[in-house]
Amino acid sequence: MVSLREAAKRLNCSDTPLLDARVLLSHVLGRDAALVFRELTSDEEARFNALLARREAGEPVAYIVGEKEFMGLRFRLNKSTLIPRPDTETLVEYLLDVCRGQSPRVLDLCCGSGCIGISLCHYLTGAKAVLADISPEALSAAAENIRLNALKGRAELRRLDVFTDDFGNGYDVIVSNPPYIPTDEAKALDVARFEPILALDGGKTGLNFYHAITPKAYRSLNSGGRLVFEIGYEQSEAVSAVLAENGFEDIIIKKDFGGNCRMAAGTKP
Ligand code: GLN
Repeated sequence: MVSLREAAKRLNCSDTPLLDARVLLSHVLGRDAALVFRELTSDEEARFNALLARREAGEPVAYIVGEKEFMGLRFRLNKSTLIPRPDTETLVEYLLDVCRGQSPRVLDLCCGSGCIGISLCHYLTGAKAVLADISPEALSAAAENIRLNALKGRAELRRLDVFTDDFGNGYDVIVSNPPYIPTDEAKALDVARFEPILALDGGKTGLNFYHAITPKAYRSLNSGGRLVFEIGYEQSEAVSAVLAENGFEDIIIKKDFGGNCRMAAGTKP
């Protein structure tokens, strides 16, 4: 049996080499590698080596195995979806709290893998969601995730450009983790080597999507409805101002698990 410890030594690009090696070997074996006590076949060994080589070259584990856990659920990924981040659970936890016992109609803009809208439908059993993205490839991952999480009939897909398309109306919640990194920084980001720049680049100041989405969201929300954004850690003041300028009230900012401002939300009176 090839030792996980030896495999992990190859992964010095990673903060979690042993865990990565275990996840990659588990992917090859189809079950938890730590519970398999036998020699690898030469075919398994070759496949494991190929996955280790991709990880050595810096590719994130989530892309190599094609999926990531978020809010305790599984999400399939492809090259057009950002990898769901634990930070984004801040938005979902907030919405689960304020929508407890309700059956909101949700619009998830720039949905990527669909992790926000799908988690809301899973945990709020009366919720219905429209998952919208400009990328057909992201929408195909979201479609797979609707099936995987058994939410057909509760979550539907829409191809939508937030800058030019109408959002429709009658929503109780509009939520979005839009691209919010300023263009120059996005290009230089290490994560942009593998993750889609389209999902990261928020224009010169990083705020383009907030400016485009907020006034349209105001028109699309029911009275009492909420607009909830993921934001960059230095954007709380700027995004709060955009929300206030467009008529939103009760603006709140929430921090992520790392203590950075990560969510800005407002209510339509
Ligand atoms: N949080 C992501 C990152 O830091 C950015 C996500 C986004 O632009 N929406 O890589």
